[in-house]
Amino acid sequence: MITGIRTKRAAAAVALAALLTASVAACGQEAKGGSRYKPDKGKGGTVGLAMPTKSSERWIADGKNMAKQFQKAGYETDLQYGDDKVENQVAQLENMIAKGHRLLVVAAIDGSALTDVLQRAKDAGIRVISYDRLILGTKNVDYYASFDNERVGELQGQYLIDKLKLDENKDEKFNVELFAGSPDDNNTQYFWNGAMKKLRPYLKKGQLTVRSKQTKMSQATTLRWDGGTAQKRMDDLISKNYGSEDVDAVLSPYDGISIGILSALKSAGYGTKSKPYPIVTGQDAELASVKSILAGNQTMTVYKDTRKLARQAVQMGDAVLTGKKPEVNDTKSYDNKKKIVPAFLLKPVSIDKSNTKRLIDDGYYTEGQLK
Ligand code: BGC
Repeated sequence: MITGIRTKRAAAAVALAALLTASVAACGQEAKGGSRYKPDKGKGGTVGLAMPTKSSERWIADGKNMAKQFQKAGYETDLQYGDDKVENQVAQLENMIAKGHRLLVVAAIDGSALTDVLQRAKDAGIRVISYDRLILGTKNVDYYASFDNERVGELQGQYLIDKLKLDENKDEKFNVELFAGSPDDNNTQYFWNGAMKKLRPYLKKGQLTVRSKQTKMSQATTLRWDGGTAQKRMDDLISKNYGSEDVDAVLSPYDGISIGILSALKSAGYGTKSKPYPIVTGQDAELASVKSILAGNQTMTVYKDTRKLARQAVQMGDAVLTGKKPEVNDTKSYDNKKKIVPAFLLKPVSIDKSNTKRLIDDGYYTEGQLK
């Protein structure tokens, strides 16, 4: 009897020890592999980073910066690019959920297309941060990290007003054409509203004229922010509306679009001493556009330090995962139709030929890169 009990106890102890060893080993293995180790609280586990496209420098930098910083903060990362196709991004998110990632940081391709997949994230207890672009129509977004998007538009609009000296020369009249971003990106509306808030009074007074009469955002959008699409539209606007008159200014919401617009202008004979380029705005301070500004082609861009945005998103994510309250500075502006998403908004900066040095001083580009 006694021997029997002893044997049973010994066997149980051996089994328990084996079980513990196995689970410790499994934990170690999975933590390394990064896919299934999922602590409820605290550091560790994997963060899924879903970025829209590699066709623009900024998103490449955003992804890299976040991956580096999340790793430094004690997490593994899974960085995916959707090639600007909504179905790719949804599939990538499904995959991240299936792998048991703890947090998703998403720069949406189409802000309204993620409701179902984010419901599945919620059901699996996964937290979500909307990155740069607001995710719409779902309660399952915890926080939003972005720039003050309306301010971006204001900077672009105000730049045109100042450069054309509309307040000093009230009798002069100028022709302007208007471009907007992708209709499925929530930021597009904010950029447009900011710019039009500034430009509308001058359009009303007749100091600015849109000869094409395409003054509604729906007439000015550029699907997926595509430079080629913008180029075609600009070709068309010039050939139909600018026989005898010149275009004096173009509101462009993004550097890639500005490059397309400038190509169309070049084909139409602009960019010479007798017919200089109009004022063309932009956004993102992409290298090609900063060089174009220095060469006197594009006129301005809006600089958004993506390193700072990445840092903000990583701080938010880390706080969410470790049970702390993330820092926010806006709890009113970003209503996604299901909730007002608490946000941290960074400040955009207007850049033209006179202050490109700011980009070097900030270490965003080296002097050599801008040569
Ligand atoms: C971003 C801009 C970017 C644009 C095109 C927007 O959502 O806020 O920085 O220029 O997408 O990629």
